[in-house]
Amino acid sequence: TGVNSQGSPPMPFPQPVKVQEIRYTKIFINNEWHASVKGKTFQTFNPATGVKICDVEEADKADVDKAVKAARAAGQKGSPWRRMDVSSRGRLLHKLADLIERDRTLLAVGSSGLITSESKTQIYCHTVKCLGCHLKCFSFFFSDNTFMCFTKHEPIGVCGAIIPWNFPLLMFMWKVAPALCCGNTVVIKPAEQTPLTALHVGALIKEAGFPPGVVNIVPGFGPTAGGAIASHMGVDKVAFTGSTKVGQFIKEAAAKSNLKRVTLELGGKNPCIVFADSNLQLAVEETQKGAFFNQGQCCTAASRVYVEEEIYEEFVRRSVESAKSIVIGDPLDPRTVHGPQIEQKQFDKILELIDSGKKEGARLECGGAAIEDTGLYIQPTVFSGVKDHMRIAKEEIFGPVQCIFRFKSQQEAIERANSTEYGLAAAVFTSNLDRALSVSADLETGTVWVNCYNALHAQAPFGGYKMSGNGRELGEYALAEYSEVKAVTIKLTETQ
Ligand code: NAD
Repeated sequence: TGVNSQGSPPMPFPQPVKVQEIRYTKIFINNEWHASVKGKTFQTFNPATGVKICDVEEADKADVDKAVKAARAAGQKGSPWRRMDVSSRGRLLHKLADLIERDRTLLAVGSSGLITSESKTQIYCHTVKCLGCHLKCFSFFFSDNTFMCFTKHEPIGVCGAIIPWNFPLLMFMWKVAPALCCGNTVVIKPAEQTPLTALHVGALIKEAGFPPGVVNIVPGFGPTAGGAIASHMGVDKVAFTGSTKVGQFIKEAAAKSNLKRVTLELGGKNPCIVFADSNLQLAVEETQKGAFFNQGQCCTAASRVYVEEEIYEEFVRRSVESAKSIVIGDPLDPRTVHGPQIEQKQFDKILELIDSGKKEGARLECGGAAIEDTGLYIQPTVFSGVKDHMRIAKEEIFGPVQCIFRFKSQQEAIERANSTEYGLAAAVFTSNLDRALSVSADLETGTVWVNCYNALHAQAPFGGYKMSGNGRELGEYALAEYSEVKAVTIKLTETQ
């Protein structure tokens, strides 16, 4: 027997599905598999069981140098990749999208603990579509009697990418698809916790027919392989997703080396404002999915929910009921809704923050503890009566913890929602369209969802205000982040 989210009544704990055969564990440079220059490897683990999956070749500075050299050569003027026109690049990207769909089961069974049913959805919505949507060209043309001016969009060059473990495939594609679409070459470092998904995609990139060196994958650790990318003189741009602290290192390393361009997608402490005139059940369901999606390991996690006082008690009651019914299990079991946290360090940090919430006087409505003997599982946790000064109200928890606050007026809710160093995403629940628009205008975040949560689209820009980041990913806005724009102005001479 196993557990539901609160330990009782007992229910069958979903059984693990057979783990896939691991095919790719080496560094991917020039469409070939390489051992690490220093002969180092690191271990990768299944977070549901704690069992080691395999050893992976560990890239550090010397391997990053090799990868950058390959990427520079592949992107040189006159190379097959630079000569390829945008529609041929588009054909390769679509081919890669087809191969990812073909291998979706292998890819969905990643090593991050992302539940399989969710990773399948993500493969289609956020990876395959992401590869297809970036193919629009944009340009500018102007002419009067004296001058004609047009813009030319050129690749930036070698784009470095450093990605986290929470969405190993989606994060890979959000960086690589727009970079390739704009004709750049790429050196990407997957997170040390989740190297295998990226390496499998490397094999598909080769199979799709991309020229050698266009995409290079260097599995390894942050300060070594990641640091080498951020400070490399041969890297022209770096795109990073992860913690705000590391984002600051990346920007500093970029500034101190060659002033490479930087885009950052960092943390969030994302507020939802639920008005008394909202569809209450919808608001309960969406805010809770937002809080517990991927076990809360999500930069857009809906960790602060401000609820208008008239509906506060009922909102808390229904949220607790809903949290208690969540099915916890092996991520590979299709019935599972809630899986393990990624690693011990995150697991400990979440439990410590839960403890701080209890000590600082928030009311623990349900959850609040680890599930013993089942890997790195934490119960979906709901706190009510949370006050703005508490650590759980201010710090990014990155775990399955929903904090519920009470508010009286719209103005108060907006001010409290905005009183954070972050500005990634927010949501408003109301049946009044004017209110939805006016609150959206006042929220200091890169995304506002109205009567929904985590509704991402491959064409809609994604990124943060304030310390949640710089720049935008996805759609046309991402293309601007991956191109140099050249204005060519021609003096016209009158002819008779
Ligand atoms: P992290 O920022 O340390 O790691 C993210 C990526 O950056 C990984 O690939 C890592 O190897 C790399 N990295 C780490 N240090 C580096 C350095 N000095 N130079 C270059 N690259 C470096 O995040 P983490 O330790 O995995 O998680 C810590 C916290 O970060 C989490 O609790 C959460 O709050 C936040 N986080 C946010 C996101 C997000 O989607 N915005 C994702 C993961 C983690």
